[in-house]
Amino acid sequence: MKFETKLIHAGQEPDKQTGAVIVPVYQTSTYKQDAIGKTRGWEYSRTGNPTRKALEDCIAALEGAKYGLAFASGLAAETAVLNILKTGDHIVAGDGLYGGTYRLFEKVFKKWGLKISYADSANPPAFKKALKKNTKLIWIETPTNPLLAVTDIRKIADTAKNSKAFLVVDNTFATPHFQRPMELGADAVVHSSTKYLGGHSDVIGGLVVTSNTKLYESMKFYQNALGAVPGPWDAWLVLRGIKTLAVRMKAHETNANIAAVFLKKHNAVKKVYYPGLKEHEGYETARKQMSGFAGMISFELKGRFKAADAFLKNLKVFTLAESLGGVESLACYPATMTHAEIPEKERIKRGITEGLVRLSVGIENPDDLISDLKQSLSKLLRQA
Ligand SMILES: *Cc1c(COP(=O)(O)O)cnc(C)c1O
Repeated sequence: MKFETKLIHAGQEPDKQTGAVIVPVYQTSTYKQDAIGKTRGWEYSRTGNPTRKALEDCIAALEGAKYGLAFASGLAAETAVLNILKTGDHIVAGDGLYGGTYRLFEKVFKKWGLKISYADSANPPAFKKALKKNTKLIWIETPTNPLLAVTDIRKIADTAKNSKAFLVVDNTFATPHFQRPMELGADAVVHSSTKYLGGHSDVIGGLVVTSNTKLYESMKFYQNALGAVPGPWDAWLVLRGIKTLAVRMKAHETNANIAAVFLKKHNAVKKVYYPGLKEHEGYETARKQMSGFAGMISFELKGRFKAADAFLKNLKVFTLAESLGGVESLACYPATMTHAEIPEKERIKRGITEGLVRLSVGIENPDDLISDLKQSLSKLLRQA
């Protein structure tokens, strides 16, 4: 089956009992057992639920993995992955990380004795240099949030294999429509399905896939033991969102390209970060490992906080909000919103400055998006 067909059918046979074409929402906590120890495959919905299972099978098929697991949020999915480690184990992580992932590493898992080093996301040799004898996991996010740095997945997968560490890739920004890390050597892929997979800004969710049976069994154990599972409605919403992933991602990318080129030429803009621009540091790697550049753009205004504040307040079609990947265009201010968890000095070192704005370019008509950016940016120039 081709990708677009899998989006609609993978894991989703018509219901055996009724023929319902769409997987039902199995809103039940428990299941009748026919005798002691004799179940019909389902016992309790923390352990397993048919709606959730359809989503798990679907994401596994989309990423080209054997197994999928669904969680209550992206961070819950990450928590299940990190629980495969034990006190004293070491992680090498890319330095371009979602703020909540950084917080999970620094404020939750460090306290239990996990050791974490950060390597420049755009520089594969830096990962090799950061390895230690006890390195068990390499964690990357590509393209990164918010600066869209691109990490060469195949190179990092080689580093991981040589050091017997697992490679985990956060594929939230690219989605399996544009990038499939399992095919490039990743051991597991994580998602915040809150973003493009859900696609409509109406659900929080997380997913993990792997083809390694031992890794899967371990993460499945933690899924049940930690209990951060999605309810059937939330699993169903993500399944429904996924059906239109291909058409949405194409539209996101077309609009993001138009917006990136527009911003690049504007007088009020100092620098644009978009992997689809030839001058972007990660352009060549992105072309090699992605089939498109997706819909996220960051850019630096010439001014600082005041300029960003005025720009964001004056937007009319873009909404100032956290999150990304929905059909509607959003704008956010990483320094105090998505990346507030990173200490100021560290944040500025990583390029998350006071003039930085991040856009999740939606699938509205691009003319409306460009005129919105234009009117708000020209107000900045008039004030300056
Ligand atoms: C949002 C996000 C997460 C966290 O997911 P939640 O669903 O908010 O818990 C992790 N990684 C990336 C890249 C994200 O954008």
